[in-house]
Amino acid sequence: MPYRVTLIPGDGTGPELIAATRRVLEATGVQFDWDVQDAGADVMDRHGTPLPDVVLDSIRANKVALKGPITTPVGTGFRSVNVAIRKALDLYANVRPARTMRGIPVCHDNVDVVVVRENTEDLYAGIEHDVIPGVAAESIRLITRKGTERLVRFAFEYARTNDRRLVTAVHKANILKLTDGLFLSVAREVAAEYPDIEFNDRIVDNMAMQIVQRPHEYDVLACPNLFGDILSDLCSGLVGGLGVAPGANFGQGMAVFEPVHGSAPKYTGQNKVNPTATILSGVLMLRHLGEKEAAQRVEDAVRAVIAAGDAVTYDLKPARDDPTAVGTQEMADAIVEAIQAS
Ligand code: NAD
Repeated sequence: MPYRVTLIPGDGTGPELIAATRRVLEATGVQFDWDVQDAGADVMDRHGTPLPDVVLDSIRANKVALKGPITTPVGTGFRSVNVAIRKALDLYANVRPARTMRGIPVCHDNVDVVVVRENTEDLYAGIEHDVIPGVAAESIRLITRKGTERLVRFAFEYARTNDRRLVTAVHKANILKLTDGLFLSVAREVAAEYPDIEFNDRIVDNMAMQIVQRPHEYDVLACPNLFGDILSDLCSGLVGGLGVAPGANFGQGMAVFEPVHGSAPKYTGQNKVNPTATILSGVLMLRHLGEKEAAQRVEDAVRAVIAAGDAVTYDLKPARDDPTAVGTQEMADAIVEAIQAS
């Protein structure tokens, strides 16, 4: 039986990245029945909403989705579709692994950290209003026991299942004594239930410095929403940038796989951006579906193409204007070839 998967191409560079990823995943021989659903700015023009109900219904029915990035207007316009999907489906844990790959020049070798980011609360709850329009605005930072407990438990369960040794809770409880005070105290309670996994905590600003200087001392970072968003981009910078950073959102019996990066709108339609982050999100999806061997074949193929260094996009070349850089689809072609040869 093919896997029925909701496929959301997104907008900006999303459709190109999803097309490339689809070809790579299909090259493994795993059968998919893609349920293609549109969301984003173009859909807003046609349907009056950037996230029609039919998209959410499709994910609810199929339980698994692969999604390209979707643009959010800055400052004005509709709210983030990406955040709306996570909230509507209660996809409370966002997993963002960052691992170095041979062939990508980095400051530290052998970095291997996973940011587990809370996905539904914090400043992203979107509870904000003008106090006096144009003069002062206010946003409410919501942290709950329930939201924290399930996120930290997810981080420990993830650590256990993936042979990880340490979970670090990231917070700013010295200043945000109530919100992050609650996050930290609940994290400590949950940690006590997992004596087989080490636990520590770091204040977020110190964490940012330490992860840059001594990334090998860290393993799984359990973060409130905003800190997780920022630290996961930082971690992607440690391993080669947003072009290679995959992600996954998990809720109760449902999962949506998407790259960490956004829609990179300035490159739309140029066949330019790196498909690796989206393809590796597909690898996370294959693992979630239980297709471990196919997942490993794709990951090995991606690593082999990047290590060889020829058929890679501009962001993985030593100079950004390197004329030997290939396009999104050509890099995917090389990965497909490597899969077929394996
Ligand atoms: P971005 O991630 O789109 O781009 C940041 C930088 O990284 C840019 O220089 C871009 O060119 C580069 N980059 C991104 N993806 C790349 C890739 N695959 N290969 C090579 N380089 C890549 O972030 P942004 O510019 O802040 O946001 C653009 C839009 O995307 C905004 O509307 C934002 O709201 C949205 N966004 C969406 C998601 C999502 O869909 N989950 C996540 C983040 C941002």
